[in-house]
Amino acid sequence: MTRIDLHCHSTASDGTLTPAELVRAGVAAGLDVMAITDHDTTGGWPAAAEALPEGLRLVRGAELSCRWHGASDYPIALHMLAYLFDPDEPRLAADLARLRTDREQRAEKIVAKLSADGVPITWNEVYGYAAGGSVGRPHIAQALIRAGLVRTTSEAFASRWLGARYFVPKADLDVFEAVRAVRVAGGVTVFAHPRATSRGRVVPDRLIVELAEAGLFGLEADHEDHSPAERAHVRALADELGLVVTGSSDFHGTHKTVQLGDFLTAPESYEKIVSAATGVPVLG
Ligand code: AMP
Ligand code: FE
Ligand code: FE
Ligand code: ZN
Repeated sequence: MTRIDLHCHSTASDGTLTPAELVRAGVAAGLDVMAITDHDTTGGWPAAAEALPEGLRLVRGAELSCRWHGASDYPIALHMLAYLFDPDEPRLAADLARLRTDREQRAEKIVAKLSADGVPITWNEVYGYAAGGSVGRPHIAQALIRAGLVRTTSEAFASRWLGARYFVPKADLDVFEAVRAVRVAGGVTVFAHPRATSRGRVVPDRLIVELAEAGLFGLEADHEDHSPAERAHVRALADELGLVVTGSSDFHGTHKTVQLGDFLTAPESYEKIVSAATGVPVLG
């Protein structure tokens, strides 16, 4: 069986394995194909490519922080996986750079709010945990764990901490802009965990219909944050709209309990993604 996991994070964002460790762990988990999809960055690509072991194919990608402005009251945040795009395409590269800058400013604001309430963590500490990668709330969670206020990353996402009380929104990319920019850069987009209600509000199916018309290529159905009913719904919607279906672990190292290869993508979907993309080749 071909084992294909198309959504994995490294220390280039909020994973805990370096890109080199990630590809080695991919082989150890028996994967044939792995995608590196850090939040809003391609910073892990060179190190992952450099360390790529024999027998593993590497799909270079990213997970873009997006939002949809169509809802009446306030925008809904969503994640768009982008695969095999040209990282030097100016518009997309500028979009990614802006997202990373905003992540820093936002994390700094969250730390300031926590500090104002007497929580003994500093921006320097959090910035250090990000180690040059995209800064995310899991890095703030790490500081909260170090300060002895929570035991796990998940606990830090409870509403009394990063989930609500100390939540600050990110700027994010308009989702239609994201789909367009990735296409212009020769890549394809797959909507990550589109029905993950546990993460907050999800978008209505009518947005997915519009995104399909705008060039969206696939939907991630098999993901730990989807119930069996949600997976079935996403599959049915993809069939209806002619989109590919993927499954993936969304591995984050020890920031989450899910393991590499816990959810997989069918070879036919993978082949369609590779055939449609022109930005950069699959490595290995
Ligand atoms: P951010 O991108 O800074 O908004 O932080 C969101 C990231 O935090 C996601 O990409 C996940 O990696 C992680 N995350 C979100 N919710 C949880 C949770 N309940 N437990 C552990 N990690 C989480
Ligand atoms: Fe993450
Ligand atoms: Fe995500
Ligand atoms: Zn992810």
